[in-house]
Amino acid sequence: MPKQAESLDHLPTTMRAWQVTTPGPVDGDRAPLALVTKPVPRPKRGETLVRVLTCGVCHTDLHVTEGDLPVHHAHVTPGHEIIGEVVANGPETRRFALGTRIGIPWLRWTCGVCRFCRSGRENLCPHSQYTGWDHDGGYAEYVTVPEGFAYQVPERFDSITAAPLLCAGIIGYRAFERANVPAGGRLGLYGFGGSAHITAQIALDQGIEVHVFTRGQDAQAFALKLGATSANGAYDVAPVKLDAAIMFAPAGAMVPNALANLVKGGTLALAGIHLSDVPSLNYQQHLFHEKTLTSVESNTRKDGETFLTLADRLALRPATSPYAFTKADEALRFVKRGDIEGACVLRIGQD
Ligand SMILES: [Zn+2]
Ligand SMILES: [Zn+2]
Repeated sequence: MPKQAESLDHLPTTMRAWQVTTPGPVDGDRAPLALVTKPVPRPKRGETLVRVLTCGVCHTDLHVTEGDLPVHHAHVTPGHEIIGEVVANGPETRRFALGTRIGIPWLRWTCGVCRFCRSGRENLCPHSQYTGWDHDGGYAEYVTVPEGFAYQVPERFDSITAAPLLCAGIIGYRAFERANVPAGGRLGLYGFGGSAHITAQIALDQGIEVHVFTRGQDAQAFALKLGATSANGAYDVAPVKLDAAIMFAPAGAMVPNALANLVKGGTLALAGIHLSDVPSLNYQQHLFHEKTLTSVESNTRKDGETFLTLADRLALRPATSPYAFTKADEALRFVKRGDIEGACVLRIGQD
């Protein structure tokens, strides 16, 4: 009989974790997040237990915490840009050796048998489950992951720098692919936080001209420093017509202007899981001339593998602001204000 699971005796039984008590504004009177003591999760069959080292703070965590996304799991622990060390494997689980540093992303599980899963589009699986929404995520000292949905983390990245690659990076990469930017073309990025600044690096490496639209003065300056050709206000007319654009800001009100800024045949990809309502569009001004408007839903594991290989090869440099684990609420308020240079990352365990 092979050994089915390591003994968990050496691990603590309880841990510190943030949880969403009652969804609501992070900058309101009542704090929606609380730091609590929870049992350390036990890995089930096919699952790996990870001691969390770092966890990135993604805009989606804000949507989960504030209630823009419906509650899928009461008192969920947010966080889905997790870097951690494997400390135990569940029964029949052997992909990662103990001590391996792995990454845990947003996509936690897909069914593998529906028509979407069977046609290379598991990101559209109707049964998909997500880290930090359907299951407890990485604003905690320990977390479990189905082993097939975790990633090897390229060695060149330290655990702070690697965290934002797991969602901001992967989703940005998928959005970039969906935006169909022609070689040597011009790309507009609307919103310039964790995801956009990584996407900008991929585009610039390919010789694509990048134009940024964001309300934050610091974010505008950061975009120019990274190599953007122009940095504009969120609703500005583009200095040149754009071949493609990606909207990272969850502001539907920005969509008409982003479409108007496109050249004939251009594409606008909406990268977020949540968007406020889009105002009415004018056909001639916003859609005619074969403009394409598309959204981006999560990612496949293939996207993740491809992106992490690319990130390693290009030596991408995510900008990060480390936060103490106990300051997760403060980090979310910072993300909400939107004027941010790179990505906030919670420092949870020691490397
Ligand atoms: Zn499926
Ligand atoms: Zn995310």
